[in-house]
Amino acid sequence: MRIMETDIVVIGTGPGGATVARELAKRGKGVVLLEKGKARDWSVGTPLAYAAMYDIRRSKQGILVRRGITPGGSTMIYSGNAYDPPAFLKEDLGIDLDAEVLETRKELGIRPVPESFYRHHPGTRRLVEAAGEMGHAMKPQARFIDASLCDPHCDKCLFGCKKAAKWTARSYVDEAVAHGTRLVTGCDVRGIIHSRGRVEGVQAETAKDAITIRADRVVLAAGGMGTPEILHRSGIKGAGTHFFTDPMSVLVGEMKEGPGTFREITYTFADESRKGEFVFGNVGAVNAFVAQIAAKNISAFPRGARMTKLAGMFVKLCDEPSGEIRKDGSFHKAFTPRDEHLMAQGIAAAKAVMIKAGVRPDTITVAKGIGGHPGGTAAIGRVVGTDLATDIENLYICDNSVMPVSGGIPPVLTLIALAKQFARGLR
Ligand SMILES: Cc1cc2nc3c(=O)[nH]c(=O)nc-3n(C[C@H](O)[C@H](O)[C@H](O)COP(=O)(O)OP(=O)(O)OC[C@H]3O[C@@H](n4cnc5c(N)ncnc54)[C@H](O)[C@@H]3O)c2cc1C
Repeated sequence: MRIMETDIVVIGTGPGGATVARELAKRGKGVVLLEKGKARDWSVGTPLAYAAMYDIRRSKQGILVRRGITPGGSTMIYSGNAYDPPAFLKEDLGIDLDAEVLETRKELGIRPVPESFYRHHPGTRRLVEAAGEMGHAMKPQARFIDASLCDPHCDKCLFGCKKAAKWTARSYVDEAVAHGTRLVTGCDVRGIIHSRGRVEGVQAETAKDAITIRADRVVLAAGGMGTPEILHRSGIKGAGTHFFTDPMSVLVGEMKEGPGTFREITYTFADESRKGEFVFGNVGAVNAFVAQIAAKNISAFPRGARMTKLAGMFVKLCDEPSGEIRKDGSFHKAFTPRDEHLMAQGIAAAKAVMIKAGVRPDTITVAKGIGGHPGGTAAIGRVVGTDLATDIENLYICDNSVMPVSGGIPPVLTLIALAKQFARGLR
């Protein structure tokens, strides 16, 4: 048994945990940062990343949830799209992140990839034009991407980025470490130690040993699935319900003539006009194909289709917080009737755009229900206050689990801004 002592333990290295650790370390605080996954750099930028960094779980009701278990958390495998925080944070909860969002946009150079990239993306351009002809405005998307390092033919954001063109929370982890943070990877947090309503530390395990970390404060940032699991194991009540994932459907089909979206970057354009319900946009051919494999949908995939001719689109649903992470480690997540209805509308809209763009209707395959934004399970108003404090003194939560409902949009920019504001307020 190893024993460590520190001011603050941060659990999880996604955008929530990494940002908190970096902010605190820059202020000279003693931080121990614990991460369940290992770096596995050899897999970055290759399909092996799926085996090395992804955790993919399927609910009994058929919804997949993908997350990253590695330093940097799910940002290692995210697309890198940046959205401003959902309006309810400021309007309903009084959490104003405008200053931190602006700062982060400037710091990380968040913007759409340059128009010069689209010259290389004829299939995507065709989808965008077809959408426009049907009255859908698919607009360029702001990205956490440094275009000067990015290859417009790559489309491997979801495998990790070899060229470091995509910002990931791993760079904040590195900065935290450079400022003195002690990082322990391959370290599975088993529970929060607390007594008489006050936090005392953390119990964790590595492959080699058990570790007790004594600390004055603990910040839990293990993500929308990891955080409630740790709270359950620690006997802290109230977490796990209201689980949402923003399930996505990925469509793929073969163009009659002309190029598809092979080697074109995924999610560079989207129609956000029904943001609180669903958004839809373009998907590169390889990602569209991999999604069919992940959803075990390969038998429905068009036989003999050529990868260069495939075109993909996604529909991302703003789902109801109807799922649950349970005490026995299982999870429940199904489409509600409202979710089913909206997803069907989104799929119909995306299919119509694909057909208008020249995709053969009989080849279109749909992988339905792939969630990537787990949250809601330790929400503000239920498990934490707007200051992100739990009922256990000096135990805080700062990750996507604190969002009471889905904003229906990718949350990383919101989480960075929230974590900056939270960490700067922590004395
Ligand atoms: C394929 C994909 C594409 C995405 N694309 C985008 C996008 O373009 N834009 C966007 O904004 N969002 C995107 N997302 C979502 C985004 O990446 C996540 O919502 C975000 O990273 C969540 O941050 P988090 O801090 O809550 O948790 P995470 O990033 O999941 O980090 C949690 C960390 O905690 C660790 N952990 C878990 N349990 C334990 C434990 N017991 N002990 C120690 N550590 C533990 C995990 O290993 C992980 O590193 C995408 C997600 C996926 C899967």
